[in-house]
Amino acid sequence: MTKLIFEKTRQGRSGINLTNEKLNYDHIESKYLSTESRTILPEITELEVMRHYKELSDKNFCIEKGFYPLGSCTMKYNPKVNEILAGLEGFTEIHPLQDDDDVQGALKVMFNLQEALKEITGMDAITLQPAAGAQGELTGMMIIKKYFETIGEQRKNVIIPDSAHGTNPASAAMCGFNIIEIKSNENGLIDINELKSVLNNDTAGIMLTNPNTLGLFEENISEISKLVHEAGGLLYYDGANMNAIMGYTNPKLMGFDIVHINLHKTFSTPHGGGGPGAGPVGVTAKLKDFLPIPTIEYDGGKYIRKYDIKNSIGKVKAFYGNFSILVRAYAYILLMGKELKEVSANAVLNANYMMNKLKEHYLLPYSTKCMHEFVLSGEKQKENGVNTLAIAKRLMDSNFHPPTIYFPLIVHEAIMIEPTETETKERLDEFIEVMIEIAKEVETNPNDVLNHPIKTPVKKVDETLAARKPDLAFKI
Ligand SMILES: *Cc1c(COP(=O)(O)O)cnc(C)c1O
Repeated sequence: MTKLIFEKTRQGRSGINLTNEKLNYDHIESKYLSTESRTILPEITELEVMRHYKELSDKNFCIEKGFYPLGSCTMKYNPKVNEILAGLEGFTEIHPLQDDDDVQGALKVMFNLQEALKEITGMDAITLQPAAGAQGELTGMMIIKKYFETIGEQRKNVIIPDSAHGTNPASAAMCGFNIIEIKSNENGLIDINELKSVLNNDTAGIMLTNPNTLGLFEENISEISKLVHEAGGLLYYDGANMNAIMGYTNPKLMGFDIVHINLHKTFSTPHGGGGPGAGPVGVTAKLKDFLPIPTIEYDGGKYIRKYDIKNSIGKVKAFYGNFSILVRAYAYILLMGKELKEVSANAVLNANYMMNKLKEHYLLPYSTKCMHEFVLSGEKQKENGVNTLAIAKRLMDSNFHPPTIYFPLIVHEAIMIEPTETETKERLDEFIEVMIEIAKEVETNPNDVLNHPIKTPVKKVDETLAARKPDLAFKI
């Protein structure tokens, strides 16, 4: 077992010599000063600090260590040049409160990123402020709410299909909307008749992902958007996974009014572990005046932050969003240029390749061509006593991150795989081989499969206890 850094401490041992001089704290109000005589910090040499954190980082799984087919998460490789550019002094040594004139470069990066995202989504205006996909959804819902308030209509219902990402109903509910869930049809798509039956004067809008979370493209999207607009509602596009359609179509062409995009998925900025992300929101012209303040604009001579926006919903995040994430996404878009279209082509190709190789061994509930991801079911394996969770744990011992499991909820024992475009055919083949091997193990030796993982730093855990009674804090 790795010891905690506090357990490695030896009194008086130090990695750094601090001055004994008395520091002057006059500029800090006394109520903010600690009255404790000594802060409890580990006392450890610099070399031991390095070893400690290296050891911890080696336990981590990351894309540089292996394949990460986590469905709906787009865990692709993020080019390192993004990091170099985001680390440039001109970006890291500025402050959000500096005058527009002092930070023209930073404002230009944000403006140009907005322009690029307008092109990709087809929308007329973009805010970069939201810090995540879910916050983008909330921003979009706030805009819808304020829009109907402004035109004097009381619309309370937001329609969401049963295949939706869980954040969709959560965001709409947080905004005070009623959620009207509609069931998918036997092809995993929106049931038009069911949609018609719930549309009325109370419909504020519909939240859709296209391709949906089954990785399937809503082929009736034009009809859907026509029906919702005729009922007076707005269409919200969950564009977390734009990597499926970039350059081929866009939410505007499909009839959507609002969209959020996850820079930390499609546009290769880091994510996971609760780190910073970005969920820019795009709107059509009629909703432009509802965007959060400030908007970043170009007045013909210079880049400015505009606070005077007629119907703005206000601020949704401090300053302008997660700036260094925006730099990374902009770097990626510049790097790829027109090849962004190939990103989507290859993401879709890789997913279809895997789907076709695996469908003989695992149940494939919806067998039409998929987009960037596909969903298998572990029901066949469960009959032999090995559920999807056990398959996921078994994969870890072959140095693969498990796919997303038990989501979307409409597929029993769901195994949701998103290979992304950054993987080679050889790597995809390795994963396919291991998945087939596991399917065979389940038939010949199911009990063995249940014993995994055995090679990971933490072995098999009690899932219920781990979730209900997490013990995360070290107390002295
Ligand atoms: C990831 C994802 C979200 C949520 O994005 P966060 O940045 O994690 O808040 C919403 N919808 C879909 C379809 C997603 O894949």
